[in-house]
Amino acid sequence: MRQILPAMGHTKEIEVYPMNDPVQVLRSRRRTICVEITTNLQVIVRAPLSMDDRDIQAFVAAKSPWIAQHLALARKRKALLAPPFTREELQALKQAARQDLPRRVDSYARQMGINVGRITIRAQKTRWGSCSAKGNLNFNCLLSLCPEAIRDYVVVHELCHRKELNHSPRFWAEVGRILPDWPARRKWLKTEGMQLIGRLEV
Ligand SMILES: [Zn+2]
Repeated sequence: MRQILPAMGHTKEIEVYPMNDPVQVLRSRRRTICVEITTNLQVIVRAPLSMDDRDIQAFVAAKSPWIAQHLALARKRKALLAPPFTREELQALKQAARQDLPRRVDSYARQMGINVGRITIRAQKTRWGSCSAKGNLNFNCLLSLCPEAIRDYVVVHELCHRKELNHSPRFWAEVGRILPDWPARRKWLKTEGMQLIGRLEV
């Protein structure tokens, strides 16, 4: 089991024994040590500031049957609540995105006075959209499950990369000119959106 121990302002990882689940150790001004499993399936050990690394490792080792059992339960619960998308579902989402996103791209591109290349739609875990230097756009098919305001945000975001190929303050100012409330839309993707991404199988 890998443990991540924050020590002297940096994080170090130590091998406890082989297991795939990383354990994050958070030290604070507390008196006792405890372990918890978050809904994101993260194992967190909360420990007192002064506790020795070896004592923490011993605690994790002693607790490992409990951790393994509860991680398995938490995984099952998560899979029940949010089952992975099937191939058919993803096909339908791509189809819906193909019908919706190009229209949005057209209308915003005209408003912003820019031209774009080809549009592709994919199911991907790592991004909502991307824009190549040549102006080809790529969008995540899961946008079909996002509210219109969010689809507009991702479209505008990628179109703004036609002007700025980075995330500089100038880029965000450009986004803000079209969608002043972009921070709330971006936040939605980081919370609700991530739950959709979590349903894509690796
Ligand atoms: Zn971007």
